[in-house]
Formats: sequence, C-alpha cells, structure tokens
Amino acid sequence: MMAPLERLTSVESLRSWTDQIPFHYEYTAGVAGERFLRGFKDGRILASACEECGKRYVPPKMYCTDCFVEIRKYEEVGPAATVAALAESYVDFEGKALARPRTFAFVTFKGATGGLIHYASGKGLGVGSAVAPRFREKGKRTGTVLDIEEFVVR
Ligand SMILES: [Zn+2]
Repeated sequence: MMAPLERLTSVESLRSWTDQIPFHYEYTAGVAGERFLRGFKDGRILASACEECGKRYVPPKMYCTDCFVEIRKYEEVGPAATVAALAESYVDFEGKALARPRTFAFVTFKGATGGLIHYASGKGLGVGSAVAPRFREKGKRTGTVLDIEEFVVR
C-alpha cells in the first residue's frame, strides 16, 4: 500500500480521482500452446497425446476431454494432412485486407482430433486433397503459426 500523499479535506475527494493506469498486454499461449508454437520453429506439428486413451489433439490440449487427465506427452503429426474444409478470404491472418482473396483450409492429421486453419494452394485443391505444410526457411521462423507459409497439394 502506498501512503496517502495529501490529507483529505472533504468527503468529495474520496469519491473520484483522475489518473492513468498504464497497461501492457502480453499474450501467452499457455503451456500446451507454447510447445505447439516452439514445434513450428523446428518444422514440426505437435499433438498432445493422452497416455490414458491415446487420443491425440491438434492444437494440443493440456487435458484429455474424454479421460479428464492432464496430458504431458507430445507427438509429432503429419506432415501429411487432409483438407477437411475450404474458404476464400479477403483478409489475412491479422485481419488486414487482401488485394486478392486467399484460400484458407481446415486441415486434419491422421490419428489426431482437431486440425489447423491455414492458407492452402495447389493444383486441384479441394476438400479431401492430400496436402503438406511448407515451412519458412529455418532462420526466419519465429515460433508462430506463420512459420508455416501454407499447406500445398502433394
Ligand atoms: Zn484420454
């Protein structure tokens, strides 16, 4: 507690004051999320794997939704992935307008629950297409989902 700097002279001054509260936000992805993002830096897509039932989650979850146990194990999935859904978007990942629309895909990985939404392209791209991630050059990766440039038809 800070000591009062001035003596109160009336009850009025107790009711309000003018000041500024400096705020600084830093988003953290959580334990499972951090592992996931660090994996991208190594060119890997990680799932968390429940040691009770073997269920694997992408993106990783810290708890198994079936067994309600904490998950500590991580396993690599892919790089082979399958397009489960597609959408055209006029905004990029950060919500900035794009001159030309880009295709986003929801891709899934064999043996894993969930999936990733990312840019996708390639000849014959459609629902059911077999795709694989194309990672940025190793030195340019920063531990975000954008370490993957896009998923490309194999
Ligand atoms: Zn489980």
